[in-house]
Amino acid sequence: MVTKKQQCPEFPCFGANYPDARCIDGYLYDLDDCDENGNLYEPADKIPCPFCNKEEFFEMFDCENDDSMGKEVYESIVEWVRKNHPDYIIED
Ligand SMILES: [Zn+2]
Repeated sequence: MVTKKQQCPEFPCFGANYPDARCIDGYLYDLDDCDENGNLYEPADKIPCPFCNKEEFFEMFDCENDDSMGKEVYESIVEWVRKNHPDYIIED
């Protein structure tokens, strides 16, 4: 059975205050990192998508740990997406 997957939202991630991260196949690409034709470069450091690849993201950034920066980062991304992509359904 094929279910339509919602496209992950773009959001600020690479130090910009505008959306500069796009999820492609579960990993984040930097939208500012592309050639003159707009083709995105494959990232050197693969950052898992916090939405469709949440488990791996949590593992990489130690998000289960209340004292970790990762949890804060994750929560700020979620907050941003809720505000800016109200149609996107964030799965718990
Ligand atoms: Zn994703």
